[in-house]
Amino acid sequence: MLDDMLDYIEHIRERPVWQNIPDQVRGKFQQALPQQASDLAEVHQRFMQEVLPYAVGNSHPGFMGWVQGGGTPVGMLAEMLAAGLNANLGGRDQMPIEVEKQVTQWMRELFQFPDSASGLFVTGTSIANFIAVLVARTKALGLASRRQGLAASPQRLVAYASIGAHACVSQAIDMAGIGIDALRLIPVNAAFEMDIAQLEAAIAADRVAGYTPFLIAGTAGTVDVGAIDDLDAIANVAQAQGLWFHIDGAYGALAMLSAEIAPRLKGIERADSIAFDFHKWAQVQYDAGYILVRDGQWHFDTFATPTSYLKRETRGIAAGERWPCDFGPDLSRGFRALKAWFTIQVYGVEQLGKMIEHTCELAQYLQQRIQQEAALELLAPVNLNIVCFRYRANQQSDADDLNRDIVFELHESGIAAPSTTKVNAQLAIRVALVNHRTTRVDIDKMIDAVLRFGAQLTQQNQS
Ligand SMILES: *Cc1c(COP(=O)(O)O)cnc(C)c1O
Repeated sequence: MLDDMLDYIEHIRERPVWQNIPDQVRGKFQQALPQQASDLAEVHQRFMQEVLPYAVGNSHPGFMGWVQGGGTPVGMLAEMLAAGLNANLGGRDQMPIEVEKQVTQWMRELFQFPDSASGLFVTGTSIANFIAVLVARTKALGLASRRQGLAASPQRLVAYASIGAHACVSQAIDMAGIGIDALRLIPVNAAFEMDIAQLEAAIAADRVAGYTPFLIAGTAGTVDVGAIDDLDAIANVAQAQGLWFHIDGAYGALAMLSAEIAPRLKGIERADSIAFDFHKWAQVQYDAGYILVRDGQWHFDTFATPTSYLKRETRGIAAGERWPCDFGPDLSRGFRALKAWFTIQVYGVEQLGKMIEHTCELAQYLQQRIQQEAALELLAPVNLNIVCFRYRANQQSDADDLNRDIVFELHESGIAAPSTTKVNAQLAIRVALVNHRTTRVDIDKMIDAVLRFGAQLTQQNQS
């Protein structure tokens, strides 16, 4: 099994990025609950034939859709070790928790957070944002709000993020019971960064109207175009207004690993909390989200729930004052930290930083190629590693359909897999260069295919 998987990774370039799942394969997954034992080798054969070929393709160098990491053999082997241990990191006195704490210490160092900062591995940034909103709420309304909920509070909490913020920020506000309408979406400037004057105006208007502003969520690397909000300016506003400053740095925060890009994230070191994913730019296997909170005490106070069966002892397995389960909603937790610990050590910050810079250089290369082709146009300035462009249609009104069809053709051909988004209400082919395996050859293949499909589809539409 291990050999098969290593072969798969070694030869992934020779495969299509993605392929349609045949009905007959999908149909095999409607069997009744197995009563009898099956041979392991047979089940593995089924995996090889029916599952492996029909994955989404994010390990493939031609995968450029959404923002997804490519994984590494190191991360894969670490996952195997973690599975072998079958560790549960909810709590108790065990070395795996020290590994997680080690990663937390590294993250404090990377983001220049104090020793009192706390951190926790979670599934992804969606949950990390949710945790941050809850901690900010507890600080804004006091500990009693954990008992009484929002209903008992006369304060009407409101939060702020830019219109470019990821949808999971409003989802976090929703899950926290604050209500989606309480998230004020602030317009962006020409660089797709939160407009600071409008942020200040919105806070002032809310105060006049009797609301209680409590949180600003800046974004480091927006999902559509890779914009980085002016984090220093947001930190100033948050400080002046006494608000919690959270950063959704899902993929962008770890650009701190690159000495070249880090200065663009200036102000990140002033955040109250940062949510990010090791499974995106850092290439750690899914899933590996992370929440870092400056004030570890508020983080603890937001989640700690004394129960007698989880009593902390001074000796033995149940020793330890604070357990990971005191910092989030999960009690049972897998050993996500191990794959991050292996990845950071085996590659080192310099190499990880270079890899991140390389994806940004590829974005610049792609921008050049687009600018050299009359049939193509850029739809947003190229920030970091995301490029939004489209094929020019004869009729402006056909452009969205044409480009959507081009992306369908790219996916179904297995040549490359960008995704789509809307930029200024126009459908864009969106290329997010995250995978460490992607090279200029893959960019050329993708662009050549866009030109070919674009010309074919334009001709078909005319006839
Ligand atoms: C990917 C992403 C998220 C969501 O993170 P998950 O790990 O998928 O939960 C949130 N915000 C931004 C900016 C993202 O790129």
